[in-house]
Amino acid sequence: MKAIFFKLIFIVLVQWTVESQNTELTTTKTSQLDSVLKENLKQKTLGASGDSSEVSLLFIGDFMGHLDQINAAYDKASRSYNYDSTFKKITPILSDADFTIGNLEVTLGVMPYSGYPQFSSPPAYAAAIKKSGVDVLVTANNHSCDKRKKGVERTIAILDSLRVGHTGTFVNTKSKKTSPAYVIEKNNIKIAIINYTYGTNGIPPNSPNIVNYLEKERISKDVDAVNTLIKPDQIIAFVHWGDQYKDLPNTTQKKWFNYFKSLGVNIVIGAHPHVLQPMEWHSKTALNNESLVVYSLGNFVSHQRTFPRDGGAVLKLSLKKSDDGVEIKSVGYHLTWVHEFRSEGKKYYDILSVQDFEENPSYFSRKKDYNKLVQFSKHARELLLKNNINVEEY
Ligand SMILES: [Zn+2]
Repeated sequence: MKAIFFKLIFIVLVQWTVESQNTELTTTKTSQLDSVLKENLKQKTLGASGDSSEVSLLFIGDFMGHLDQINAAYDKASRSYNYDSTFKKITPILSDADFTIGNLEVTLGVMPYSGYPQFSSPPAYAAAIKKSGVDVLVTANNHSCDKRKKGVERTIAILDSLRVGHTGTFVNTKSKKTSPAYVIEKNNIKIAIINYTYGTNGIPPNSPNIVNYLEKERISKDVDAVNTLIKPDQIIAFVHWGDQYKDLPNTTQKKWFNYFKSLGVNIVIGAHPHVLQPMEWHSKTALNNESLVVYSLGNFVSHQRTFPRDGGAVLKLSLKKSDDGVEIKSVGYHLTWVHEFRSEGKKYYDILSVQDFEENPSYFSRKKDYNKLVQFSKHARELLLKNNINVEEY
């Protein structure tokens, strides 16, 4: 047991060292031009740049970790895991904002590593995610407790060691009380990210761990705490909800969105159905504030190969601050698709930008892979063109 523990610490340290050495070389974010004014485990603040009253955010869906992905990331020669190639082609899109936020739907670092139904991926997965430009991972979802207490705590420890922001699960009450949200800040616009899940597959968290469940009283208390403690200009809720594999949101999702709005949380980003669901940007009226809901961003990366679970969307959101407060300046999405293929006996999962590859059939060694990308994008565009409100493809 002890040996395993020390091995893990060693792996984490190695990941951390590799990561810290590579940061400058691999980070291509526009925010690279900014100085990081402040970065700790609870907050990241960038120095002023660009339009001095704006901040841009990217939201991405589910980072899954099926066994086929774990096996594909294993390098026999070095006997280590490396996921960097998965994100290589999508990094320019992930880097095109000040902050990037996604849903981590696996626990990290509990061996033996495992895929569905109880996920545990190597720390190298999170290291590659960070390297691709992701700043924050939300951790409250139905797989948060897959590896019980060890999984909840190790996931948090590994994200901390990699300096990836996170929220949604907490080691104990004290850590939630001192930091009920992850805070991102730029150009004097302070945004608090909060995160909730409908459940944890019937496995409750072990005391003293906390998983943020979708419970009205809890959420309203949390929002009060965030407003008092953090005093953000904007709160954004990332919510794990909905029916799996359904194209449209259910009434419960709509009710939760209304509930968040009633608390002043007018931007809600959703995930979990593993397929895309519509996005709605409602402008301000005499009676209501403006609001944005994305019911599901789909899978960002997974081994779910069944159409239309094989892709997702990256949402880009720009916020602008004026004397009247923060408002949405623009919002749109990019479609992404996961290309699973073999090359020289090794398997790969590459996340591709649909726009970059839909006119390029010769890139694919198998015609059927190209056809699947086209099938995914056709369905996604039909669904979102028909049902989205004021949110268009970039
Ligand atoms: Zn889920």
